[in-house]
Amino acid sequence: MERCIRCGRRVLLSRYRDDAGRYCSIHCYASNSNLAFCPACQDATTDDRAGGTFTFNGIGTIFAGAKGRCPECHSVIQGRYIAFAWVPIVPLGPRRVIYMARRSITDPIRFVANRLTSDAAVDAARLPSERGALTPLRRFAILISVFLATVAAQEIENRQLRESTRDEVLLACGDNSVCQVAIKQHFAPCFDAATGGQFFAQTVDKATLAECINRKAGSLMLRTSPTR
Ligand SMILES: [Zn+2]
Ligand SMILES: [Zn+2]
Repeated sequence: MERCIRCGRRVLLSRYRDDAGRYCSIHCYASNSNLAFCPACQDATTDDRAGGTFTFNGIGTIFAGAKGRCPECHSVIQGRYIAFAWVPIVPLGPRRVIYMARRSITDPIRFVANRLTSDAAVDAARLPSERGALTPLRRFAILISVFLATVAAQEIENRQLRESTRDEVLLACGDNSVCQVAIKQHFAPCFDAATGGQFFAQTVDKATLAECINRKAGSLMLRTSPTR
């Protein structure tokens, strides 16, 4: 596995690279050890600096995307945004950003972000994204993927809980075929009642389940504690 040539961390998903090697993140890719723009980048920006970025549970201001990396000082142009769930929503304009090279990932992220001069902003609009840059669209795609993966995982867990509960209740019937038929008929709605119909249900209220099946069957099929 390749390591980031700046901080030494293993490079997993990042596609940032230059002739020197690979980088683990934009913070390493767009960094130098002086936290300083080269004269050309200094000229292409104004002293109007963006304040820090701040997010709480993914809500706040962030930098997203990356383009126009300077071969001299390694600074990049990033968009500053108000974000929700780390997805950029409201654009606050492009900035040229340089990060302080970190020796380990526990070091705080330090950066300088200057507003572009109007000429530089016009040029920046035409530049293509750096390869692998986390553009707003990509961030949105990641958010959707994580959401879908969570739903899929929960779906599997739900099915397992449903099946194991059903097996358990059927076992409680023993050889009683009337009981078994009643359970096959009424299990589904009663399972929903016993989990409160919640998608993220982790537990089943077995007393509710047994009562529900008994009520629907019209006779005592299960004791309120079906495992006993
Ligand atoms: Zn790194
Ligand atoms: Zn530069």
